[in-house]
Amino acid sequence: MTEEKAVRVVITGAASGIGLSVAELLAADGGAHQLLLADRDADGLAAAAAKIGAAAAICVVDLSDNDCGDVIIAAAIAHMGGIDAVVSNAGIIAAGALVDLEPEDFDRIYAVNTKANWALAKAAYPHLVASKGAFVATASMSASQPTPGLGFYSSSKAALLMLVRQLALEWGKDGIRCNTVSPGPTYTPMTKTGYDDAERRAQRESMIPLGKLGMAEDVANAILFLIGRGAGHITGIDIVVDGGMSNNLMPATGAGTGQAASK
Ligand code: NAD
Repeated sequence: MTEEKAVRVVITGAASGIGLSVAELLAADGGAHQLLLADRDADGLAAAAAKIGAAAAICVVDLSDNDCGDVIIAAAIAHMGGIDAVVSNAGIIAAGALVDLEPEDFDRIYAVNTKANWALAKAAYPHLVASKGAFVATASMSASQPTPGLGFYSSSKAALLMLVRQLALEWGKDGIRCNTVSPGPTYTPMTKTGYDDAERRAQRESMIPLGKLGMAEDVANAILFLIGRGAGHITGIDIVVDGGMSNNLMPATGAGTGQAASK
């Protein structure tokens, strides 16, 4: 398995949830990987690094800063000497109707969910050229489905999807593969409060054909596939990790029930 995967990996949002799961799965894979874990949560990063050991170095950084990409990549090169894969995973939510949100909300959400991914990719570019590496960003099912109360989130993730497809187009000549994963409802610290409400969780799970929320590891495994050699001819795509939910939106309309067949 080790030979199938990248070995020097940068992960953002690595203190929690999906990013932490990517780090833990890589660390459990025979100790062959070196990791640079980036996040703004210094305590969470320290806890993650303590679990993983010497393979991991940390970078405390705010992804809404314009120099975040340079800061992270400098730390990665100091620790690992090169980069085989970037997992650009951190993201944030701003809830509210579009009519109520403010320009500051727009700037904050788009800075982290969209711009930081580009900044990180740009800073990593020469190193990914050298390794013919991979870039994977975490988008969302909301990138393709308007989501009540999450208009800045969904649109920032939609922009991210296209940004990464664009990177795939521009960097194919360099042998760099660029892809996204789009989680559906996934149980992580980001969503824990909502899904610890049994009624809400049951309602959400009733809409998922596989009958359960995703877990961080479900999404992390898709990310590992995309950075690994098994995905060596795959670029510019989005893997939706949603238990089938995005194919299950029409039944709620009742379409097809009680309807006479066409003659
Ligand atoms: P999480 O909150 O557990 O982890 C996100 C991490 O990003 C945290 O450690 C946080 O500190 C870090 N982060 C946030 N803003 C930052 C900033 N400005 N600078 C540096 N670090 C920052 O959430 P998660 O569920 O693991 O989310 C990971 C990704 O998956 C996000 O991009 C999220 O939008 C996406 N996603 C999650 C779900 C879900 O249901 N959990 C669904 C779709 C998409």
